[in-house]
Amino acid sequence: MQRREDGRMTIQDAWFPPVPDAARRVLRPAWPKGMVCFSSNDYLGLRDHPEVVAAAERTLRAHGVGSGASRLVSGDHPLWHELAGALADWLGFEAGLTVGSGMLLNIGLLQALAGRDTTLFCDRLNHASLVDGARLSGAEVRRFRHCDYEQLAAMLARCSTRHRLIVSDGLFSMDGDTADIEQLLRLAEQHDALLLIDDAHGIGTMGRDGRGVVALAGGSGHPHLVMTGTLGKAFGGYGAFVLARRALIDGLVQRMRTLTYSTALPPLLAASALAALARIRSGGEVARLHANMRCFAAATGVDLSSPIVPWRIGEDAAALAVGELLAQRGFRVVAMRPPTVPKGTARLRITLSARHDHTQITALAAALTEVTPAAE
Ligand SMILES: *Cc1c(COP(=O)(O)O)cnc(C)c1O
Repeated sequence: MQRREDGRMTIQDAWFPPVPDAARRVLRPAWPKGMVCFSSNDYLGLRDHPEVVAAAERTLRAHGVGSGASRLVSGDHPLWHELAGALADWLGFEAGLTVGSGMLLNIGLLQALAGRDTTLFCDRLNHASLVDGARLSGAEVRRFRHCDYEQLAAMLARCSTRHRLIVSDGLFSMDGDTADIEQLLRLAEQHDALLLIDDAHGIGTMGRDGRGVVALAGGSGHPHLVMTGTLGKAFGGYGAFVLARRALIDGLVQRMRTLTYSTALPPLLAASALAALARIRSGGEVARLHANMRCFAAATGVDLSSPIVPWRIGEDAAALAVGELLAQRGFRVVAMRPPTVPKGTARLRITLSARHDHTQITALAAALTEVTPAAE
């Protein structure tokens, strides 16, 4: 611990208890030089795609870096409306709204949708942004076991508050499995509930057209459904969006505090997202990602249904050690530990990207068998 020059500890030095090495979190670059990264959410390699970069550059020169204010003051830009319309059109919803990042969106969205007269029904493995949004909303929160819709149905049947809102990730970020959208929509209809699906990881990766788990299940535009996604993953940029019926989107503009009280995103991010959407719709990147998933499955024998592979280890220290062995072999695969994943289920979270080539993937598969001979 750092001491002042006179030898006394400062208030900041002593504020947090020391973190043991096995639990220490560190900040790291996305694609480190000389290493092949298998931990990025840049699933389609669009982060630095020439067309995406060029669109951002053009808008940067025309409109500058920042937006200057909240969208409700003077920070709005037509490109955000164009993007919201294009996303709604592509994903089959009536209307859309872009807001901050996925974290800001979910926090603001749940606060806007839910209050004291609402019960929230949340999958236990939901993303932290949904957990925090639920807490901040002031609504009663019930958590059901991961994808256990019988338990959810029983909870819904016992609920007597005025509003019911079911909340789930679409493609779960740490396990690579998916919510059953058909079943959730059926439950939402039966119990007169709204369903919020956050498909941050599924959009751009799931389905031949990359439209995510909702479109795969035929749920696009369903009247009970509100869907969210991020521009920070497959879109390779930054920002987030929510899609629903027009009346609900209009209501969110009136009520979402993370929209009202936060500086609008730079217009260059709307331009880069529109360019990324054009790439996704062209199909080449999505097809390459899916070919890479098949390559990994063939090389490891692990059955993949998404580009997220949870390589389960168990103990935190063991997961870190395996990550270190892979790093020595030139692969960046980050170990995920509690509280991001449940205790005792530390894992390497491997993510595949359209940017990888088959040589890199078979080399990773060989390294994995070498360093984790006992893994599943
Ligand atoms: C990553 C993620 C978010 C956060 O999105 P950002 O744009 O990175 O803030 C929200 N929800 C889910 C399910 C995520 O995986």
